[in-house]
Amino acid sequence: MLQVLNPATEEVVATVPAAGPEDVDAAVARAAAAQTAWAAAAPADRARLLRRFAAVVDAHTEELALLEVREAGHTLGNARWEAGNVRDLLDYAAGGAERLNGRQIPVRGGLDVTILEPLGVVGVIAPWNFPMPIAAWATAPALAAGNAVVLKPAETTPLTALRLAELALEAGLPDHLFQVLPGEGPVAGNALVEHPGIAKIVFTGSTRTGRHVMARAADQVKRLTLELGGKSPNIVFADADVEAAAAAAPMAFLDNSGQDCCARTRILVQRSVYDRFLALLAPAVEATVVGDPLDERTQMGPLISRAQLDRVRGYVPEGAEAIRGKAPEGPGFWYPPTVLTGLPEDAPCAVEEVFGPVAVVLPFEDEADAIRLANATPYGLSGSIWTRDVGRALRTSRAVRAGNLSVNSHSSVRYWTPFGGFGRSGLGRELGPDALTAFTETKNVFLSTEA
Ligand code: NAD
Repeated sequence: MLQVLNPATEEVVATVPAAGPEDVDAAVARAAAAQTAWAAAAPADRARLLRRFAAVVDAHTEELALLEVREAGHTLGNARWEAGNVRDLLDYAAGGAERLNGRQIPVRGGLDVTILEPLGVVGVIAPWNFPMPIAAWATAPALAAGNAVVLKPAETTPLTALRLAELALEAGLPDHLFQVLPGEGPVAGNALVEHPGIAKIVFTGSTRTGRHVMARAADQVKRLTLELGGKSPNIVFADADVEAAAAAAPMAFLDNSGQDCCARTRILVQRSVYDRFLALLAPAVEATVVGDPLDERTQMGPLISRAQLDRVRGYVPEGAEAIRGKAPEGPGFWYPPTVLTGLPEDAPCAVEEVFGPVAVVLPFEDEADAIRLANATPYGLSGSIWTRDVGRALRTSRAVRAGNLSVNSHSSVRYWTPFGGFGRSGLGRELGPDALTAFTETKNVFLSTEA
């Protein structure tokens, strides 16, 4: 059994049975049968059902948001956005079912066309940090492209995924097309990766587990999308609007209590404005409202678990120079907003993913030094560049090795723009106009006109 705790109170919210390998076998067999019929349905019918699923999610956004608050400790505002994101993804992917076009390529003596065939049954393994959106990032386009999905949510956060599977049935999606199997990673997750009936795995989680998944998938040359860790830079040049950069910097790493693969936890500041930036940053960090996730004024809630709290604590060196915010005392997995200064560039918390409300500030000299520092990690997921110089913004955007950059803002994720990582942050892209093609194989067919 999996025990789901409310991270803000440590109270037990639910216990959920954990799937074993035999449950995975049965789910994959059911999914395969459902997928055959689904792939044969008219694209317009698939689109209509997915739009209906979106409408049912829309009618339940408040319920889903409250469930996310209880099982993941997210602030209510974030959780509402997350439920809305699931709806929007389903709507957007639905339109893709009708537009999954192949190509017609000129040839002599016939006609050559490409057809985007569905893969079959897709296994989705999701993390606990954004349980709902990340489940939907893969599920919505996979279904739209004619696949079935078996989703394994994280051990700590199975409830919203289970509810989404019920809502899919309520919307009229065929039985077994979208199944949710809560379970432990090394058991149910591994069984999905190794199952010969699973055509592709979409894994979102740590780089360590992602590496393991990739190795296990290699035996069957199984298709993979990997969305892994990050250690993203927030680069502030001296010619930027330094006030705006300092005001925006706290929530760029504190959102979701820092449990965000895109968190800008390496704040790189040009030396000539370093002191001014810190003087502006300190009151902004200290003013962050940390507390009850259900209070609409709250900006940051707890960490997901005691294990995560211990991990975050372990990254903060004893006696380090720091700007600190406040956090509640008592039950719950609370850690205050923390910005570390005066550390060497290669300190563990400056190069490894902490996955908590902890950032480091490091000075740099010039543009070349900023780019060197920004690229000084094996990750490459996202990052921000603050400057008023358009040429510098473009040069730096081209030079930083990361999949998702923003200039004078911290936005990373829109369901209609592509998302994914360079280097050890992952493999492949999700979201955006090409999301469905990641769930297809391209088949080329030549029809002779000579016979
Ligand atoms: P994790 O790697 O511990 O777990 C992720 C999922 O993998 C869970 O469902 C878990 O049960 C499962 N799992 C664990 N061992 C497995 C195994 N041997 N075989 C198959 N599945 C297994 O990660 P986490 O702590 O839940 O999530 C946090 C991580 O996710 C962070 O590193 C974060 O950066 C990353 N993340 C990345 C993105 C992105 O889009 N790049 C988005 C969100 C989170």
